[in-house]
Amino acid sequence: MESEKLIDLRSDTVTQATIEMRTAIYHAKIGDHGYEEDEETLALEDYCAKLFGKQAAMFISSGTMSNQVAIRCYTKPGDEIILDTSYHINYFEAGPTVDLGKVYLNLCHTHDGILTVESIKQAIANKHRSQLYNQPTLICVENTINTFGGKIFPLNALKKIYHFAKEKNLPIHMDGARLLNACVATSVTPLEYASYADSVTLCFSKGLGAPYGSILVGTQRFIAEAKKFRKWYGGGLHQSGFMAAAALYAIQHNIKQLAIDHQLAKMFAALINEINVIRVDLEKVETNIIMFDISKLKMDANDFTKIMKLNNVLLYPWSKHIVRAVTHRGHTEQNITYAAIQISKICEKLEKNKKIGKDGKNVFYPIMQKPAEKLSANVENTL
Ligand SMILES: *Cc1c(COP(=O)(O)O)cnc(C)c1O
Repeated sequence: MESEKLIDLRSDTVTQATIEMRTAIYHAKIGDHGYEEDEETLALEDYCAKLFGKQAAMFISSGTMSNQVAIRCYTKPGDEIILDTSYHINYFEAGPTVDLGKVYLNLCHTHDGILTVESIKQAIANKHRSQLYNQPTLICVENTINTFGGKIFPLNALKKIYHFAKEKNLPIHMDGARLLNACVATSVTPLEYASYADSVTLCFSKGLGAPYGSILVGTQRFIAEAKKFRKWYGGGLHQSGFMAAAALYAIQHNIKQLAIDHQLAKMFAALINEINVIRVDLEKVETNIIMFDISKLKMDANDFTKIMKLNNVLLYPWSKHIVRAVTHRGHTEQNITYAAIQISKICEKLEKNKKIGKDGKNVFYPIMQKPAEKLSANVENTL
């Protein structure tokens, strides 16, 4: 029964290929892309270059590798890159950025992840500048911004920093893992967004529902260099057409779905905001990500998500008291409602039996001591 299934809200990376996508994979015309002969990959790259209005595009295994290759193209070891502390390139990729890129991350600490000319100027002014010391050579932006609940980087804000960056001769790389979510929510085209960045990366393996891959777009020269580093980093492609066919199918057919994901996110946020120990800023739910605060439960997000897993809802513990939920094509109104009800029931139980230990935490985890409870199978009955 639908409601007894695990509702997976950890990420939109859990989306699965549909029959139509699998059919596209089956019919893929493949070749060895080590010789740039994989027809499906060439078609995908061509399609994406046009979609973003750039000279060239490169298929690559992941968003992370795409960012890392881009950083490597723009910098020399010891150079400085400017970005917000909340961005994936710092939050999750600081290791590879320092290890592979060997660059210094000059971090801005904005309140919402939206870099401004002022914040960039400040980051530059924070350090002594002369020929003897390292220089910033790249600005990175993220759109949508994961840490800030899928926040959209406004086009106007991007334009401003783009003009400043051009004056300073600094390129802009846009980590657009979920850029199409921003496009769907704002009606700004991918081409418009990309015109204010020198390179853009996009993930096919998230809301778009493909099993694998990202695209990196930019100038002919930049992509030629990027192909070298993709190879150096061990990401060279061979019969990539099976994956490219899925990605091409995704970008041609699945963009519309993102609007539904956004509606479901707003609905889910409103439902869980009714729970008195949970705090969601509804205005901040702009796309398909919901960040909610559970500090009132006096429990770590890690423990909370473990308990919710035993109760059929998978969530992602973002930080100590912040939990992330992401909507995607695997959800329906019904199972999103069911997930919200499950969360509500568990929160109520945890609140009612609250027992604060010496460490100030709620030590009452009744559900963790038993096997998963069989909860009501019928959503309607529980409403
Ligand atoms: C998911 C994500 C990535 C990384 O993508 P992978 O394919 O998982 O490596 C990079 N940046 C942002 C903003 C993301 O959300």
